[in-house]
Amino acid sequence: MPIDLTQFCIPSDYWDSVRLRSLGKPFRIGDKAYASEGRVIVEVEAGDTQANEWAPNSSAQKIMLGWTDGEWSRLPELPEPQTEECTTCCGSDGGCDDCHSTGLQPKTIVVQIGKRLIDAKLLRLIATLPGLLINEDGDPLSPMSFKFDGGRGLLMPMKPQVEPCQGPAPKPRRKRKTAKAT
Ligand SMILES: [Zn+2]
Repeated sequence: MPIDLTQFCIPSDYWDSVRLRSLGKPFRIGDKAYASEGRVIVEVEAGDTQANEWAPNSSAQKIMLGWTDGEWSRLPELPEPQTEECTTCCGSDGGCDDCHSTGLQPKTIVVQIGKRLIDAKLLRLIATLPGLLINEDGDPLSPMSFKFDGGRGLLMPMKPQVEPCQGPAPKPRRKRKTAKAT
């Protein structure tokens, strides 16, 4: 069964620029088909995919030149998705477009793989690919190579100043008199 490439595309809600719209559907260059949501790109044989009807994003082939073969390993176990208070409305009720008035937004969870820090959400996305293997080697800011049954791809890491699994900032506490040592 061909892989559903649309899960790697940018949903139409976000097509507010030419660049984002150009990644809105799978596209075809030569005998390859590509899909990307900006931070993950996958490349498969175009064959019987749905990647015909969209204007090709010409940078795809150039980006894929960064793909490297090497030692392949399975994904580590991934943390469960979490939510946190919406940073736009601070969880107040009603009328917030960013959280659809739920007061919650998905929390960014960072996973370290090799030297890279990676958004767990992107790892959950590629984890759906059949026979997925990743290449952990490489610099912290270089895209991570992966391959799967029928194709290959790249995933952009996060900038290293983000601490892995960083919790919310501690709330200021009222000063308390320290108990005397006994
Ligand atoms: Zn909100």
